[in-house]
Amino acid sequence: MMATCPVCGKGRLRRGKVREEMFGVDLGEYPAEVCDSCGEAFVDSEAMKKIEARAKAMGLWGLAKKVSIAKSGNSLVVRIPAELARFLRLKGGEDALVRPEGREKIVVELG
Ligand SMILES: [Zn+2]
Repeated sequence: MMATCPVCGKGRLRRGKVREEMFGVDLGEYPAEVCDSCGEAFVDSEAMKKIEARAKAMGLWGLAKKVSIAKSGNSLVVRIPAELARFLRLKGGEDALVRPEGREKIVVELG
C-alpha cells in the first residue's frame, strides 16, 4: 500500500529505514515509511518501542527535565539534575562555555 505523505501531501510513502537519535546520540536504524518527496520518515509503534528500549538501555531516557531558573545576585542559576550530571560525567567545578542559540535556547559546552 502506498499512502500519501501527511506532511507534504504530495509524496508517496515507501518502505525504508530511518536513523534515529536522541540528544545527538545515535540510536541506530529502524524500519520506517519514508516519503519520496520531503523525506519525512514514519516509524510504527513496534519500532517506537524498540527505539524507546534502546534509549533507556543507553541511559538517555528521561534526561530532558523541566527546571526553574533561580536568581543568585546579578546572575541566574540553572540546576543540572543528578541524572543528567551522571550522564555527562559532571561532578561540579568543571569549566564550561555558556552561549545562546537564538533567543530560546542556552547551550552549555563542556570541555
Ligand atoms: Zn512528504
